[in-house]
Amino acid sequence: MVTLSSESSPAGSGAIELFQLLRDGTPRTRAQLAKSTGLARSTIAARVEELMRMGLIMPVADAASTGGRPPSQFALNPSARVVLAVDIGASHTTVAVMDLTGAILEKRTEALPVADGPVAVLTRMVETAGALVAESGRDIRSLVAIGIGVPGPVEHSTGQPVNPPIMPGWDRFDVPGWVQQHLEVPVLVDNDVNIMALGERATAWPTTQHLMFVKVATGIGAGVISGGELQRGAQGVAGDIGHVQVARGSDVPCHCGNRGCLEAVASGPAIARALRAQGVPAENGDDVIALVKGGSIDAIQAVRQAGRDIGEVLTACVSLMNPSVIALGGSMARVGEHLIAGVREVVYTRSMPLATEHLAIVQSAAAENAAVVGAGMLAVEHVLSPEAFHSLAG
Ligand SMILES: [Zn+2]
Repeated sequence: MVTLSSESSPAGSGAIELFQLLRDGTPRTRAQLAKSTGLARSTIAARVEELMRMGLIMPVADAASTGGRPPSQFALNPSARVVLAVDIGASHTTVAVMDLTGAILEKRTEALPVADGPVAVLTRMVETAGALVAESGRDIRSLVAIGIGVPGPVEHSTGQPVNPPIMPGWDRFDVPGWVQQHLEVPVLVDNDVNIMALGERATAWPTTQHLMFVKVATGIGAGVISGGELQRGAQGVAGDIGHVQVARGSDVPCHCGNRGCLEAVASGPAIARALRAQGVPAENGDDVIALVKGGSIDAIQAVRQAGRDIGEVLTACVSLMNPSVIALGGSMARVGEHLIAGVREVVYTRSMPLATEHLAIVQSAAAENAAVVGAGMLAVEHVLSPEAFHSLAG
């Protein structure tokens, strides 16, 4: 593979600049690149040749001719390299191979509970990754980064899960260090709700700067994108809205030790418990969804009330963050409009008009792919960054 050595590229930063311009996929001519970067035409020509040799950019169909010979255009070559996207869930793990636009080339979901522990889960993940890269027709050397989502809090700077409640054996486990013993590329780890926010944006809202993704399942949490950036907060737990107290939940105990948490009244298991108390048989969130789909009035009312409870917390979030999109996902979002109707009812009534004038509260478009797409985007964002350019070039 051609490397970007200092000898071949005395002004190597020019190549990085060009690549940062071209990574958005929009084709540009040499003249446009010269204008945008302020680099000399001769430098542009040399850097374009260099990036083409590395396979990172490619010529694309020319712009409409303005008479004479039309100028050649160049854009990111999305298939230049691949990344691995991994969504480790409570009961299943999904592994996907993606190109640099985030398009899924190969994907496999296996029954692999996170509670089996990090060595068992990651060993299987590495095996699956090797098989999928081969099935996608790529060489493992074209793999440039791995993004991994886990169902628990992660310390962003180290990629280590911290006190994850449903991940026995994972506390402070060095996930990047372990994976890199087998696949020597950058490994990015984040919690599942954060990567779902990235996946949702990439799938349905690519130009949106302010988006909240709310996962409603066994637990409730949010991933927050503000000013175009994922917000992790000081310790990586920004968006952990499940344990905010809601008015209706005053004496309902929560597994966190407090009472009245949002999660204790509006999660899938909490709705099922409330229905059981009314004599309606429901063991878990799946049963609640089946009851709603079957037209049970009790279940529909319970889900709508859960939506209102979630809306109560989101009203505070709207005041604080002023998002333009709130997307609801997670397994309970499958109940459809009843949950969202409850959220809208409260958020639109209780927020200031300007904050909700252009606020869309919608079902997740990425749905069950949100996490795996987001894990891939985490990896893609890293490898396309100026800091990582040299590893990409090498
Ligand atoms: Zn709680």
